[in-house]
Amino acid sequence: MPEIKFYSGDDIPLELHKVRIVQKLDLVPVERRAEAMMEAGFNTFLLKNKDIFLDMLTDSGVNAMSDRQLAAMMVADDSYAGSATFTRLTDKLKEIFDTDYFLPAHQGRAAENIIAMTFVKEGSIIPMNYHFTTTKAHITRLGGSVEELVIDEGIRLTSTHPFKGNFDLDKLEALFEKSGDKIPFVRIETGTNLIGGQPVSLENMEAVADIVHRHGKLVVMDASLLQDNLYFIKTREEKAKDLTLREITRRISKKMDIIYFSARKLGFARGGGIAIHDKELYLKMRELVPMFEGFLTYGGMSVREMEAMAVGLDETMDMDVVSQGPLFIKYMTDELLKLGVPVVTPAGGLGCHLDASGFLPHVRQEEYPAGALAAAVYIAGGIRGMERGTISEQREVDGSEHLASVELLRLALPRRVFTLSQVKYAVDRIKWLYDHRDLVGGLRFVEEPSSLRFFFGRLEPVSNWPDKLVEAFRKDFKDSL
Ligand SMILES: *Cc1c(COP(=O)(O)O)cnc(C)c1O
Repeated sequence: MPEIKFYSGDDIPLELHKVRIVQKLDLVPVERRAEAMMEAGFNTFLLKNKDIFLDMLTDSGVNAMSDRQLAAMMVADDSYAGSATFTRLTDKLKEIFDTDYFLPAHQGRAAENIIAMTFVKEGSIIPMNYHFTTTKAHITRLGGSVEELVIDEGIRLTSTHPFKGNFDLDKLEALFEKSGDKIPFVRIETGTNLIGGQPVSLENMEAVADIVHRHGKLVVMDASLLQDNLYFIKTREEKAKDLTLREITRRISKKMDIIYFSARKLGFARGGGIAIHDKELYLKMRELVPMFEGFLTYGGMSVREMEAMAVGLDETMDMDVVSQGPLFIKYMTDELLKLGVPVVTPAGGLGCHLDASGFLPHVRQEEYPAGALAAAVYIAGGIRGMERGTISEQREVDGSEHLASVELLRLALPRRVFTLSQVKYAVDRIKWLYDHRDLVGGLRFVEEPSSLRFFFGRLEPVSNWPDKLVEAFRKDFKDSL
């Protein structure tokens, strides 16, 4: 989206695409929404799609595909070995990242598994700007630990810092001084997911890579959210403003040893993989692909998805394509800010993030404010978001609760999926809920899995607050849905 100004002066993101396939949505009544939430154990992951109006759970594997992607899927080469589709994808990655080697994996976490199994041992320390749920689970499973080195500003919810995902370079140096021998690699997460899709600057990535290489260790980039990060580098970083997205990508890639990604986000498709410059590194990881994923030329993916990914990666180099997400998210964030609703600023990629601690200050962290807000937003509007707070953390080894540094409700805006009026509806219902926030109470676990509990855990409200919320909704909205 180039900056197209409105005569009215209104700041409206204008779509540079048209919709040609649609999916009908239902909005069920508020009473049914409360019932569905109960059936789902107050965990939005367990809701059924038929009860959901706007699915803002994630941007993973649910981005709209382009006509070019759909067309490419029809010419996929479905052979077990030596597939021409694999060659096309590898060539595209070479064109974009200048990497010679590619290991396919069925999705991002599978790439994480391969990298962790190759490099993480009992006692390893993996520094990163911030963890991601599946990344951390793979590292800790193998006896390693994660050190988060994001700048202090990164976990400050309201900020004007343009690159809240940046590493604190002093902390990185200090960690190398103290425990350098335990560090096999440093992981840079672009578009830092759990702190609100916040970007890392080009300058910071280059500085991190220089430090790590000076200590003789590897730099691994999680590029799952690279497309948003590229947009922010291009629009927020002085030294990149005259570079094309392709040039920025090449600059970044040159400094990385290993680049892995979830193609459910990067490339607007499904699947994932690991792009590598160096042959030795490639060979070190290679045998794990046929063991866990599939043969080397598909790695557990369908060849159709691989064709879509190759085209999607190409489209990621187009500012008109990658700007849609961040601009819609900025619109939603700005509208909520105007209404006084606590949101994470500046607006990042991947979604609009509500600050659940600010929204529900009366709900203690032990009663999961972000989880409670996720349930309340669903009841208020049929909108499904994702808890990104204490429920998404793992308990300590001694069983005590690990309180998250931030309690967020993420409302993802999958790319090119929602219209502006749907975003306006979401803003409207969230404002209504904010005006009735005193009615919302906390949650407690009734079934708690020991790992990745946010996926399957079941909870219940600590009081009958959902009934009160439904009652207030009926009073204000009469017989409207
Ligand atoms: C989604 C994501 C992953 C995991 O990818 P999947 O395809 O869901 O397995 C890893 N890292 C980041 C930053 C992500 O956003």
